[in-house]
Amino acid sequence: MVPPIHSTGAIMSRYALIDFRHPEKGLANRDQTGTFGSNMKAGGLIGRVIGKIKSSSTVVPNLTLAYLKAIATQEGKKAVIYSGMPQGEEWILIASSLHHYKLEIALAQEIKKAFPQSKVGFINAFATTNPELFEEVADFVILGEPEWALWKHFRGEQDLVGRVVSEPQLDLDQLPFPQWEKDRLWEYGYFPALSRRPFLTIQSSRGCPYGCHFCPYLVLQGLPLRRRSNQLVLAELKHLKTEYGVKSVLFRDIMFSYDMKGTKELVQMIAQANLGIEFGCETRPDHFDDELIELLKAAQFKMVNLGIESPHRDILKASGRKSVKNNRIEKVIKKLERAGIKVQAFYILGLQEDTKQSMEDTIAYSRKLNTFTAQFCILTPFPGTKYYEDLDKSLLLTDDFGRFTEYEPVVDIAGATPGDILELRDLAFSGYYMRPQWFTKHGVRLGLELLVNIFKH
Ligand code: SF4
Repeated sequence: MVPPIHSTGAIMSRYALIDFRHPEKGLANRDQTGTFGSNMKAGGLIGRVIGKIKSSSTVVPNLTLAYLKAIATQEGKKAVIYSGMPQGEEWILIASSLHHYKLEIALAQEIKKAFPQSKVGFINAFATTNPELFEEVADFVILGEPEWALWKHFRGEQDLVGRVVSEPQLDLDQLPFPQWEKDRLWEYGYFPALSRRPFLTIQSSRGCPYGCHFCPYLVLQGLPLRRRSNQLVLAELKHLKTEYGVKSVLFRDIMFSYDMKGTKELVQMIAQANLGIEFGCETRPDHFDDELIELLKAAQFKMVNLGIESPHRDILKASGRKSVKNNRIEKVIKKLERAGIKVQAFYILGLQEDTKQSMEDTIAYSRKLNTFTAQFCILTPFPGTKYYEDLDKSLLLTDDFGRFTEYEPVVDIAGATPGDILELRDLAFSGYYMRPQWFTKHGVRLGLELLVNIFKH
């Protein structure tokens, strides 16, 4: 069969999936922050060094596009993932983000000029919450998790025109295994938390019933927990090993151990399979017990991301976060570290009722916990979250979504000025890694891992 020819002479390979990498501004990390993307920024020498290390060593591949490519292949369609201009495919889907959305719109305009017959559309959380921003150039915008709408489209049951509402509660066991670009594996990594490569990600669940008001992940994933069957997850891990040769895998579940029983079964199966892969995951400190920690250790989990946010439970409550008692957090971190599992702790500055003093307390608490890494974000009202919906919009410091990076204050809070928040953000990063306590506990080991990493790659 002769492939259809585009009017420009380009071969119509049908579907282009774009995770745009701007020549100067780079990737938007669209797999993170619920597909809104994020862009770490911190001032000071240490903050800038951490930002550089993070942007070059922590590159998480785009799971949504890998799923869409797999669905296309399953339905007999050809889809190619690009980080820039496509090649005149008939259908072009651009992954939107919050802070690079103007760049994505400019790219769409360029594509329309180069390939006037192509249909160009947008997916992801920001296109879902603010489709009107994209419609000036887009032929279609998919609202919600895009897999179902694309699936129906591939089967000829869904035209892609205007606003296309996708199935909000997709059964994850229906999805094929994500199809990754083998020639781009070298780009991905999660160093220093997971040092081995090739690195890829997997998702065993979506959704989180905690429903924190500021959580950007809930915009697409929603509240109910949707777990895949443990058998399918294990089968996908084996596939990642044989097909891509992975040596480290990050679970991209937003609450990996919400269902403790199901998670323990899964981790036990992974340990028994002895895959020679190291793992990382993300969950809450109150979703561990001794048995789970032992199982994680046996299954080669080397890293856990924990959302601590703030030591002030009343301040967290005011921002719609169901918090965990500090002594419980401290006990869990000690047990994880004793099991050889690194902890990456996440903190938020600029919570609605934060003051200069309470943020200083957050920074002091991060140093007390002294985990392997500490990440300090600034509370950002992502569109579609309850925080954004309830926010008095006159408190917004900007209407430029390009500045919603999670590292810049965009809301006026009563207890501190934007300047205070920025100053504390920089202090939080620079002071954290310059302490002898951090260096003796983590620095030496990290240095050795860095050397091994350089030697191997
Ligand atoms: S616990 Fe974490 S994943 Fe769950 S809603 Fe809150 S911030 Fe989101």
